[in-house]
Amino acid sequence: MITANDLQELAKTHGTPLFIIDHDELRSNYAIFKDNLPRVQAYYAVKANPDPVIVKTLFEAGASFDVSSIAEFNIVYDNIKHLSEQDQHQWIWDNIIYANPIKAEETLRELDKYQLLMTFDNREEVFKIRDHAPNARVVLRLRVSNAGAMVELSSKFGASHDEALDLIFEAVNAGLTVAGLSFHVGSQTTNFENYMQAINMAALIFKEVKERGYDKMDLLDIGGGFPAPYDESVKPFSELTKRINTELNRLIPEDIKIIAEPGRFLVATTATAVSKIIGKAVRHGKLCYYIDDGVYHTFSGVIFDHCQYHFDAFKVGPTQICTVFGPTCDGLDVISMTEELPEDLQRGDLLSSKNIGAYSGATSTYFNGFPPAKVIQVNR
Ligand SMILES: *Cc1c(COP(=O)(O)O)cnc(C)c1O
Repeated sequence: MITANDLQELAKTHGTPLFIIDHDELRSNYAIFKDNLPRVQAYYAVKANPDPVIVKTLFEAGASFDVSSIAEFNIVYDNIKHLSEQDQHQWIWDNIIYANPIKAEETLRELDKYQLLMTFDNREEVFKIRDHAPNARVVLRLRVSNAGAMVELSSKFGASHDEALDLIFEAVNAGLTVAGLSFHVGSQTTNFENYMQAINMAALIFKEVKERGYDKMDLLDIGGGFPAPYDESVKPFSELTKRINTELNRLIPEDIKIIAEPGRFLVATTATAVSKIIGKAVRHGKLCYYIDDGVYHTFSGVIFDHCQYHFDAFKVGPTQICTVFGPTCDGLDVISMTEELPEDLQRGDLLSSKNIGAYSGATSTYFNGFPPAKVIQVNR
């Protein structure tokens, strides 16, 4: 647990802006995930926060990984490069899924030697994989309801139930091994029905494929989407997992391996940003604070993740609804227009923002020459 005092001490030592990652919290989130979903192996979705130290802590805790590019693959690979070639291959076979349904030809060629697990959702990809990674074990990504998710993915990815059988047999006829099915219910899904519907649809397709004479599918990937506890409106994780476990046990035979690709759930609560007020103005009657971190860095999730972060001040006093701006000259660099903050904060005062570990600095740029926040690893 990192206290307000710890945050201020870190800012004194390192300056600002800071991005502080708590590895005790990370290990705890991983343990909660495992304990609540005993049949499910967690493949951490590296895109949620590709910090190599986060990947290392999860690796040591026993996690597997979902990667979507060579760069992400290499962050994970760093943890096993000391192993013999044979052990590397075995570990990758068991613990990595390449879960981007659209893959570059070069990437497929480079990774083919690992007989990698990878997703697909269309015919073109079947032919691409056949030509460039014929040893892959492919997993059909289904299109499922993303209703009520904070970030919706179903318009970009996934095959419908109607297309599924044809695509599976297209892949089989192309000489590929079809390992199973996957889906993603949308990120930060608070509508638990999405999981129930998706598991039911997958169970039906497993049955239909078997009836058509193909019996090599032995993997169900229930994707990501598990909601982080950003506020009280998010129902407890145990409530969701209880329902998921019931459906999995009712519908998915025991010999099918079940995996998931949690991103946000594992990392969101692990990080806290500490920023400094560098300017103050009143515009159109509204108090505005300008801070030394913004949407081009730690707060990029405001734009790319549709996520609203909130601030805590270290001082108390009468408050107002304020706007908080980032430091760049871009009018887009607005972190929040509705923050309740003390009205007499001064230049040099600090603000903190918690639960900012997922989809935050991951999409950072150097626009306007401002450097990213310094990353501090705590309880590593
Ligand atoms: C982004 C993504 C994830 C992680 O999703 P979360 O909502 O962060 O858990 C998992 N799988 C795939 C294929 C993704 O694109």
